[in-house]
Amino acid sequence: METLAPSKGFKLKLAGMPDTSVIRLTRPATVGVSAQDIPHIRPKLLVKEKEAVKTGTPLFCDKRDPAIQYLSPGTGTVKQICFGARRRLLEVVIALDSMDDFVEFGPVTSADLVQLPDQELIDRLKQGGVWQSLRQLPARDTADSGTAPPLIIVCLNGNDLFSPHPGQVLENNIPQFEFGLAVLKRFCDRIIVAARTSSMEQLNPVRHLITHQVSDTYPAWNPGAILYHIKEKPEENTAWYIHVQDLLHLARFLKTGRYPVETMVTVTRGDDKKPHMIARRGAPIPLLAGNFPAGSLITTGRFNGRKVDPDTHLGFFETTLNILPDTPEDEMFGFLRPGLNKPTVSRAFLSCLIDREVQLDGTLHGEERACINCSYCEDICPVDLMPSFIMKALHGDDIEEALELGLLDCCRCGLCSFTCPSKIELTRILSQGMDTHHKDKQG
Ligand code: SF4
Ligand code: SF4
Repeated sequence: METLAPSKGFKLKLAGMPDTSVIRLTRPATVGVSAQDIPHIRPKLLVKEKEAVKTGTPLFCDKRDPAIQYLSPGTGTVKQICFGARRRLLEVVIALDSMDDFVEFGPVTSADLVQLPDQELIDRLKQGGVWQSLRQLPARDTADSGTAPPLIIVCLNGNDLFSPHPGQVLENNIPQFEFGLAVLKRFCDRIIVAARTSSMEQLNPVRHLITHQVSDTYPAWNPGAILYHIKEKPEENTAWYIHVQDLLHLARFLKTGRYPVETMVTVTRGDDKKPHMIARRGAPIPLLAGNFPAGSLITTGRFNGRKVDPDTHLGFFETTLNILPDTPEDEMFGFLRPGLNKPTVSRAFLSCLIDREVQLDGTLHGEERACINCSYCEDICPVDLMPSFIMKALHGDDIEEALELGLLDCCRCGLCSFTCPSKIELTRILSQGMDTHHKDKQG
């Protein structure tokens, strides 16, 4: 097993680590399939409001490859189809019946897997709504089934600091995990299985399958950050990756022939030690979040997640909710306060001298200002970029310069935006630059 310990990243201790106990949530009244957290998708609706659907009925597909479908995680009736600006699909909401009636796709055993031709396996995964769990770097688009990946990274830890613990996720699921790895080996011989150091103790039963142990400094376990530190040649930039829960869904779908409907979710709020929760995929946010103060900021990642409307449902890839106090008003005499509880990576507050857990909030501490060339963003970037230089190249429409400065290595961790004292949305600017470049390449 190799060890990866990048020297940069977010090193503070944050409050809110979930409890390791696991509870199962009740069946929700509605589930939603959101198109909002699916990078690059061009959704095409396949159902109408009031239409009856089974568990596994396709709700929408990706116009770029209509074989890639997003299936209903429950049986019931299409209650609402929500659109945003320019009629962009936000989510399809299903009012659930009391029982599931599954679309049957037919199971695949380990013996069948060996016999199944590659194209049939790909078609089956697309039909079953699980192919899109495989993502391709650097754009994080759906993996291109027409090419063989140079390597596949299996991320045992999720996007957030407090995403579901892989020990909990894998408990009683090791045969499915092994089956999932066997499926990945059909596409590529080089499989990287990476886990955070702090997760290792609970991962003893699968230790022999883990190839890389990464440090606990956020975002060392991000697939883009892992690739940056292990890649040896440019061709490896198009590596695929998959998160462990998605790999289990893929394996469960093949083994049972049914669309998997449950996932493990964590919710963090202040010092609360909330349990891990097994919930229906696309569960309503209020069911997951419970009671929270009005005006709270709900995100699906502390540094790079999506801001969630409390009246919607969890996204297709999302497994964590953070409930943060949102206090946009300026703090009275804030400049005179020592900041014992304030997170700081620039050592601006006394909290940097004290070994204690700090809490994040949604406060901006002022408005966006001009770049002051402090290089804080450069000092924290886990993939050694100079985000302010890339931003300036993008602002000057010089994509070639941005690419030369390593734009495509950005793993969208959000730390540069978090640390910037001028409150410049560096991650958004770089992400938009990458997405525009990807779209232009696709033509
Ligand atoms: S440029 Fe910003 S978002 Fe991208 S990897 Fe560096 S710190 Fe993270
Ligand atoms: S952290 Fe912000 S102000 Fe400092 S160099 Fe980077 S972009 Fe400029």
